[in-house]
Order: sequence, then C-alpha cells, then structure tokens
Amino acid sequence: MGPKRERIVPIIERLAAEHQDATIALRFRNDLELLVSVMLSAQTTDVNVNRVTPSLFRKYRRPEDYLAVPVEELENDIRPTGFFRQKARALRGTTRMLIEEFDGRVPRKLEELVRLPGVARKTANVVASELGHTQGIVVDTHVRRLSQRLGLTKQDDPVKIERDLQKIVPREYWGVFPHLLIWHGRRVCLARRPRCEVCVLHDLCPSSRV
Ligand code: SF4
Repeated sequence: MGPKRERIVPIIERLAAEHQDATIALRFRNDLELLVSVMLSAQTTDVNVNRVTPSLFRKYRRPEDYLAVPVEELENDIRPTGFFRQKARALRGTTRMLIEEFDGRVPRKLEELVRLPGVARKTANVVASELGHTQGIVVDTHVRRLSQRLGLTKQDDPVKIERDLQKIVPREYWGVFPHLLIWHGRRVCLARRPRCEVCVLHDLCPSSRV
C-alpha cells in the first residue's frame, strides 16, 4: 500500500467515476431552506428530512415565519425528524440571529455560520460548501468510517479527522470529497459489512478483505 499522499488522488478519481451522481441528498430551493434542512438532518437520515421539508417550506418561507408561530407548532411540524424540541429551539435562535445580525440572509463565512445557535462545524461546512464557499471538509459518520478504513487518518474525533484530511486532499476537491465518501459508504463500504469484492478501491485500501 502506498503512502496516503500518493493514494489520495487516485482514490478521488475512481470514486468520482463510480459515483457521478454524488451530491447532497437534501432537497432545498434557496439558502434558508438549505440551512434548515441541514440543521434538521442531525441524528436522522436525509430521506427522513426530505419527507418533512416540502410542506414545511411551503409554510415557512422567511426567517420571520419560524418566529411567528408558537414554538409547539414548529415542534409539531418538524417532529418526524426527531429531537424536535432541540431542533425547534435551534431553528428559532438561528432565524432570530439571521434577522438581527445578517439582514435576514444566510452568511457564507464558516466563522459566522458557527455562531448561529445549533449550527456546529459540520453543518456550517455543509452549508458553506453548497453555497460555493467551501472552507473545510465535512466529516460525518461515513466520512469518518471510510477515512479510517482507507488509512487516511488514525483519529476518531471529527475535528482532528478534518485536519488530517485537509493536509492530504487537494483543496479543489474539499467540496466533492465528502459526497464521494458518503455515497461510497452508503452503496459499497457499508458500516457492518463492507463490499470489498465489488469496491473500486480494493487495491488502494489497507482494510480491503480481497
Ligand atoms: S476495499 Fe473494502 S474497506 Fe476498503 S473502501 Fe472498499 S469496501 Fe471499504
């Protein structure tokens, strides 16, 4: 197995050929919908969020709309995404800050995004990247698992994993790289039983079973 710096570009190129449709799975039509979808996707699947958001976004169109209803009503509207009390609180805090400090718009800078209540680094990275202002590498559960299996990091903490990845992944790939790992993780490198026998990375992966 070669050093990770030599393996990383072939890994990216092969995954890009394999998963040409690798993009964000959440459905949204504007910056606010993107931010809300990503916030709702914590601790649940994108599919689950996509079930809730069409009607949610018909009702809540501007940041003010999230503050105009009783909190119980908002909780009820997002209930199927789980942790609905926490998420409703975060959505109201965030939309209030958007109005008060950002002129009702979603900021682009990572350091501004992470100031929004309930917006952690991962959420901020996803939003910034989708808005065309990639400033980091998104590390979710798939990115963490695959980075470890591919021998790109020995760390377990997402912030440290991101730091390791930033050292080896060329900057122009920071936005697409997580999508490639996420889709590969969903389709091939499954958490419990990786399908190494059909994996295009088997000769580049120290964890390959074939
Ligand atoms: S070879 Fe196996 S462990 Fe390595 S990335 Fe592919 S599926 Fe995952």
